Amino acid sequence: MLILHDPQCADYGSSMRPEQPARVTRTATHLRTAHPDWSWRVPSAVVTDETLLLAHAPGHLRRLAQPRDFDADTPYFPGIDGHARRSVAAALEAARHALATRTPAFSLMRPPGHHATATNAMGFCYLNQIAIAALHARRHLGAARVAVWDPDAHHGNGTESILHADTTAGPHAGAFFFASVHQSPGYPGSGTHDLGPLTRNWPVAPRAPRAIHLAALREALDAVVAFQPDLILVSAGFDAYARDPITEMTLERGDFATLGRWLRETGRPAAAILEGGYSDDLPLLVEAFLEAWENPATINA
Ligand SMILES: [Zn+2]
Repeated sequence: MLILHDPQCADYGSSMRPEQPARVTRTATHLRTAHPDWSWRVPSAVVTDETLLLAHAPGHLRRLAQPRDFDADTPYFPGIDGHARRSVAAALEAARHALATRTPAFSLMRPPGHHATATNAMGFCYLNQIAIAALHARRHLGAARVAVWDPDAHHGNGTESILHADTTAGPHAGAFFFASVHQSPGYPGSGTHDLGPLTRNWPVAPRAPRAIHLAALREALDAVVAFQPDLILVSAGFDAYARDPITEMTLERGDFATLGRWLRETGRPAAAILEGGYSDDLPLLVEAFLEAWENPATINA
C-alpha cells in the first residue's frame, strides 16, 4: 500500500468545522502505527495551471487566489490555493502509481474535491482532484478509459459535471464513466437520476438499511467494471458511516472493508482519494478499507 500524504494539508482550517485538520492527522498517526509496512510518500510534483485547466476554467484558478469566501462551507483560507494544488498533486501521483505498478495507492489529503465544478468551489472542495486525475490519466498516462466510483455519502456533482461534459462530446467522447452512490435527499441535492449511459447515479434514501446501501454500491461497481476501464479512481468518502455527524446513513466499519475487498477483486489498477468522512472513527474506517483492498487475508476481519 502506497499512501500519498503531505503533512502541510493539516495547516489550514479549524477544529470548529467538520472538515478539519484532525481528520488527516489522526488518520495518518493511526495508519503509521497499525501498518508500519505501508509506504508513505510526499507528493513532490508541482501542479501546473495547464494540468488544472484540464478540468477547470481559467477564471476559477484566478478566483481561488482571491481572499473571498465561496460559501459558508467553503471559505477562503490563507494559502488555500496551494493546499488544493497539493491535494491534486497527490491524486495525480496515486493514479500514476496505480497504473505503473497495479498496486493500491491512497491519497490521504485535504481539501477533498468531488463537489468542485469547473467554475466553482463548494462543499469543502476547491479543486476537483479526481476529475483532474481522470483527464490527466487519459492524456498523459496511457489510460484510454477511466472510471470514477464515488461511494461518498454526498453526490459527486462536480466530478459528474466535468466528466459528463468531456465524455459526451469532443476528443474524450466515451472515455469516462462516473458512478455515484449517495444519500438522497441530501447535499448538494443533485444525483437523483442518470445523465446518460456513462454518467450514473444511485440515490439511497436516508436511514436506508445497510444491505440496501451496499447493494447499490455493488451495482455501481459492477457498472464500473462492465465499462472495462484501464483505471478505476475512487472518491473514497467515509461519511456514509452510521455515526457520521453530518449524514443519515447506516454503513458500519466492516462495510468499508467490503468496499476495499470488492475493489481488489476487480483486478484493475485503482487509486483512491480521500473525500469526506467526519466521524471520530475515520482512522478506523480508512484502515478497514485499505487493509481489505490490499490483502486477501483481512477479508471480514
Ligand atoms: Zn461527503
